[in-house]
Parts: sequence; C-alpha cells; structure tokens
Amino acid sequence: MTSVFCGVDIGGTKYSVALINEKGKILDEIYSREHTGRNEEGLVDIITRNIKKIIRRNGLQESDLPGIGIGFAGHIRYRDGVVITTSNLKGFRNYPLREKFQSRFNIPILLDNDANAQAWGEYKFGAGQGFDDMIFLTISTGIGAGIIINKAIYRGNTGTAGEFGHTIVEPESDLLCTCGNYGCLMAYASGLALPHLFEKKLKEGKKSKLTLLPDFNPSEITGQLLKKGLDMDDPVSIEIIDESGYYMGVGIYNIFQALNPPLIVLGGGLTNWGDPYLNKIRSTFYGLARDMLYDPVEITISKIIGNAGVIGAAALTIK
Ligand SMILES: [Zn+2]
Repeated sequence: MTSVFCGVDIGGTKYSVALINEKGKILDEIYSREHTGRNEEGLVDIITRNIKKIIRRNGLQESDLPGIGIGFAGHIRYRDGVVITTSNLKGFRNYPLREKFQSRFNIPILLDNDANAQAWGEYKFGAGQGFDDMIFLTISTGIGAGIIINKAIYRGNTGTAGEFGHTIVEPESDLLCTCGNYGCLMAYASGLALPHLFEKKLKEGKKSKLTLLPDFNPSEITGQLLKKGLDMDDPVSIEIIDESGYYMGVGIYNIFQALNPPLIVLGGGLTNWGDPYLNKIRSTFYGLARDMLYDPVEITISKIIGNAGVIGAAALTIK
C-alpha cells in the first residue's frame, strides 16, 4: 500500500488541507478562506471538519496516517505547540493550537511555523533532496525561512530561529519594518516593502510606465505588478527588482557567514521575477563572499510543484 500524508497550511487569507503521496504529490486538496472571520475555536472547528472530510472522501481512516502536519503563519513555540503571536489572523496570542487540534484526533498533531514546514517539504521532496544541511527562504509578502541542520529542522530556543527577514541590512535606514526596527531585510526586499520603495522612486522624480496603466493604484504595488513592469521594460520596476535582489544577496551573505550551508533554496512569489532578480542575488552574494567561499554554495529556486505550504505541512509527519 502506498503511503499517504496529511497536511494543513493556515495562512492569513486562506487555508488548505491536503493529502499527499510519498513523492510529495498532492492527491486531494480543500482550500478555503472561510476561517478569516472566525475566532480561534471557530477556526479549529472548521479546519477539523475539513480534515475529517478529506480523510473520509479518500476512503481512508485516521489510523492510516502517521499524523497530521500543520504549518501556521506565525511565531510557534514548537515544544508545546503554542502560537505565541501572528500578524496574519486576529487573536492567537499564546494560543495552544496543537492541543486544540490534538483533542479532536487520535493521531499525532505536528504544528510548526509555515516556513519551517516549507523548508522540510523542500528537503524531503524538492531541491534539498540529498543534502544534510540547507536553508530555505520564502520571499513573498514577508520573508520567512527554515534552517535544516544535520537532517533536522533547527528551531532555536523558543522556536523562532530563522527570522532572517528581521536581520538589519541598513542600520541608518528610514524604512520602518513591521517589527518596529528600521532597515530590516524585510523592509527592503519583501512584498510588503514594494509600495514604499515605489513611492520613494517617484518622489525622487523617476517616471514609471506602470502609472499609465488604467487600473493603476499606488497602494497596490505587488510583486506581480512589478513583474508586469519588468516585461514592459519599466525603469522603476527594473530598479526596484534589482535593489531587492541586492538586499537579498546581502541577507544571504550574512546567512552564509553565520551558518555556511551548502544550499540555499528560494521560494515565494517574488522569485517569479526570474533571472534579472536571481542573477542580482547571486552576483551580490558571490561578490561579497569572494575568496571566503571554500566550498560551493548553491543558490537555487524551489523545486516543489503545487502548493508548497501544504506539501511541507504534510511532510512534517515524515521522519
Ligand atoms: Zn524587522
């Protein structure tokens, strides 16, 4: 009998429940946005119902699964499965999420930060296969990361290791980060940063072709829109993508000096910017690392096909 694994990815705007096979392929998936208006208990209820539904409609029983892996976008204290805080959903302050799910199932519930889950998925099924150590970075609205050391997720003391988005790349910066500090990598190189960076360019007197688009809205500058700008040869989009790549390169250089990993895998929406972005990340990194690079460091794109969040969550149940 082939093995089946169950994962749940809980984000700020949507959640997903899926079954995957031993190759990391999604067999069945339910996704929905219905959790966003609910309180903590309501969210656990609705997701529990869908987990039970997906197990049932695939002719399985709970006991056919080694457990249920849950990836949650927030700070998780892994040892007791408590959500310390999240900026993505209302409530969830010191909330015992794992225990709440555990009381509804007879198989183990594994709860981790969504970036750790994605890192584990990448290690099991994607670009990390065959490596003992790797760093995974997801660059989307925010910047998350997962650290794999010696074939295991490294979580740190509290469980919040890998918050590279809050490492400071410009201490004198006037760009405020969501954490309250100035000059974090996230303030320069995440999706959240893009409207500020765009506005700054316009204030400097630069002209963007994007402002001529009929549905242009300056507060809705997304990675997708800048990709469009890139394809239109828009100088402002090109400049922002180039600078984002520069700061990611600096961030990765700092990671390299701290952890010396053989592999860094990039995932998340902003990697859709493609070669101009990746080339800038690589050239910045290799330029800074120079002759300190004694062994190769590979910087590559996620090889997970499909919903990486939920595949990673399911992978949490695989040793
Ligand atoms: Zn920060």
